[in-house]
Amino acid sequence: MIPYGRQDIRQDDIDAVADVLRSDFLTQGPAVPHFESAIAARVDAAHAVAVNSATSALHIACVALGLGPDDLLWTSPVTFVASANCARYCGAQVDFVDIDPATGNMCPSRLEEKLEQAASADRLPKIIIPVHLAGLSCDMAAIGALAARYGVRVIEDASHAVGASCGGGPVGSCEYSDIAVFSFHPVKIVTTGEGGVAVTQDAELASHMARLRSHGITRDPELMTHAPDGPWYYQQIELGWNYRMTDIQAALGHAQLARLEDYVARRNALADRYDRMLGGMPISRPGRTTASRSAFHLYIVRISAERHRAVFEGLRASGIGVNLHYIPVHLQPYYRDLGFSDGDFPEAERYYAEAISLPLFPAMTEAMQDEVVDALAGLLN
Ligand SMILES: *Cc1c(COP(=O)(O)O)cnc(C)c1O
Repeated sequence: MIPYGRQDIRQDDIDAVADVLRSDFLTQGPAVPHFESAIAARVDAAHAVAVNSATSALHIACVALGLGPDDLLWTSPVTFVASANCARYCGAQVDFVDIDPATGNMCPSRLEEKLEQAASADRLPKIIIPVHLAGLSCDMAAIGALAARYGVRVIEDASHAVGASCGGGPVGSCEYSDIAVFSFHPVKIVTTGEGGVAVTQDAELASHMARLRSHGITRDPELMTHAPDGPWYYQQIELGWNYRMTDIQAALGHAQLARLEDYVARRNALADRYDRMLGGMPISRPGRTTASRSAFHLYIVRISAERHRAVFEGLRASGIGVNLHYIPVHLQPYYRDLGFSDGDFPEAERYYAEAISLPLFPAMTEAMQDEVVDALAGLLN
């Protein structure tokens, strides 16, 4: 089976992890801040807070931006459930903004309409989470301008997009957002096993997220509500969690990050080759935008709804590990129970009826890619 994605582990990664295992600290040592500095520098962010998953990063980002039970958060229906669940952890309500079918990303003109209606109903969201599907940045200039007009905060779910750029700047520089989040799950661009990071230009948000990742505890006397009892003293000043990344994970991530540019270049080369080879077939290839370079976490094609299931099953039967990213979040039973139903977000549902993620990962060979294309051609005949 050719998988749809696969991590790439080299000797450097193994050595970096082994060094930590022989060192004094398995967690809360020097590797995490070292990794945080490297990732912040790579994406032009002033601060990075590494945590045990992107899901945790989304959660503490929402808490740091003050999301609470009376609030509303909007995201895209075409994403992994984590982009919406972070609001539910805070007791907030979720709603969705339908996608632009050309890219699968949140559609700025639908966002504009929905914000206008929400403003007149006095029910604006506190936070919106655009998701850079497959590694292609959303139109952040448009989304950022709308968010500023209506006083809404923005978290970029950039789980697919480390190494991508938009308008010349790297995704993660937060030019039009408060916080951006990356995932380091093994299927993503670089991995720490499990792990994620929240990046921001705002020092206060960063130190707040760092506190939330570790129980809401501070050792900073300035932040304490009464004087320290002694040098052993720390104070819990709010409720936080244990969302820490280990030094073992951070060392792996740091070694992987050194190859980020190679990974993104290889993914783009394979995507370009897919584009050329699939050119004559009755399918639509991934949307591109002139202003941005995708990280190509995924290569998603669309095939007419009539043939979709047969092609998907046929590819699986020929040993091609295709997948479908994603089942629209509002159609998950948990979200249906909150009141969503079929027909709520028609573009997302049409997308779901047609999308297939073809295999794409750095160690994929051209021979493997030919196998995928041949199988697809056979099924579309
Ligand atoms: C993978 C992913 C997440 C969650 O990442 P974890 O690190 O597994 O918690 C969130 N959002 C999107 C869009 C993802 O693809």
